[in-house]
Amino acid sequence: MNKWIEISVAAIENNLREVQSRLNAGTKLIAVIKANAYGHGAVETARILYGLGVDYFAVSFLEEALQLREAGIQASLLVFSPVIDETGMRKAVANGLTLTIASESDQRLAEAICLETGQAMKIHMKVDTGLGRFGLNEEQAFAVWEKIKDCRCIELEGIYTHTADPSSSRLAEKQFQRFMQLITRLEQVGASFPIKHIANSTIFLRSPYMHLDAVRIGTLLSGQHPVGNFSERLQLQDPYTFKSRVISIRELPKGTRLGYYGTYRLKKDAQIAVVPVGFHDGLALEVANKPVDMWDMLKKLVKIVLGYIGWPGQEINVTISGVNCAIRGKVFMQMALVEIPLGMKVAIGDEVVVPVRKTLASNDISRVYLDQVGVRCPSKLDT
Ligand SMILES: *Cc1c(COP(=O)(O)O)cnc(C)c1O
Repeated sequence: MNKWIEISVAAIENNLREVQSRLNAGTKLIAVIKANAYGHGAVETARILYGLGVDYFAVSFLEEALQLREAGIQASLLVFSPVIDETGMRKAVANGLTLTIASESDQRLAEAICLETGQAMKIHMKVDTGLGRFGLNEEQAFAVWEKIKDCRCIELEGIYTHTADPSSSRLAEKQFQRFMQLITRLEQVGASFPIKHIANSTIFLRSPYMHLDAVRIGTLLSGQHPVGNFSERLQLQDPYTFKSRVISIRELPKGTRLGYYGTYRLKKDAQIAVVPVGFHDGLALEVANKPVDMWDMLKKLVKIVLGYIGWPGQEINVTISGVNCAIRGKVFMQMALVEIPLGMKVAIGDEVVVPVRKTLASNDISRVYLDQVGVRCPSKLDT
């Protein structure tokens, strides 16, 4: 195996304990394991967390939930995004998933399939308080409630909303107010919501009074703090290490051009290693969003300029035997070139730690779970 991802079970447990230490007794933890558990592997992460006592999970899509059910995960499982067709809805009911009702058509489809199959379904109403993604407005929330209250096979387990602003608390506070006011009005006409929830990792850290009945936590469990400044920080550990091996090593003289377009020219004689990881695996990829503000745009521009003129510190580094070594030239589809100082001992098969962002790392790469009985990292060139 020439590339794999190591996941530390101990680090996952540490992060769970850190999150739990800030939970009030009455608040449930919903572990968000969407996007392959932020790269850690959804099925194994669910098993590990379930073994540690987590009994409620959430994912974005029906397909993600079905994959977990097929792997035998029986815990409560909330699907955030709408199930849009009858076939999907039948599968959701048959697998005992908890669905999000974010529109009147979501409600109609859920009711139709419940009546057809005679099976009950748990749902959470989702209201849009300012993110602009999924969700009912006030009028629709009342309309959906009117339908649900008469449908015996639909169990209204909860209501939630999702917040938009990771950097300041003002917008989130507004959303919280809107959310609570809508709940009050629905309760006045007889609705009751056992599980009300709004908090993701950001809100969880910043605003303990918004924890309500449940918190939906992904980022913190994955070992990272969300973007932003927090007075409180948890002692998190990153469970994730992307590893590969040197598959070629050669000495090349000063002045040699490297990679497509020859964008890098060696400044001194060096050893050049090939590592079989490229942008197809997620290396050197960035999420290409519009800058959030002027300051963000300036930072991005400065980075591009410094990278272009070859300013030190702008290159991507891998780690070999604990030494940082720079990737040179353009990253290939499935490979990258690494400059290693002449004197350093390096051989074919040596391990390389590669900085591939966990949420961009291809799902095809095997995840290896450490500190678990019977599972060990591949220590030789075995496959
Ligand atoms: C991803 C997601 C979360 C988890 O957010 P983190 O910031 O990663 O904790 C919670 N709720 C919804 C609806 C999400 O899509």
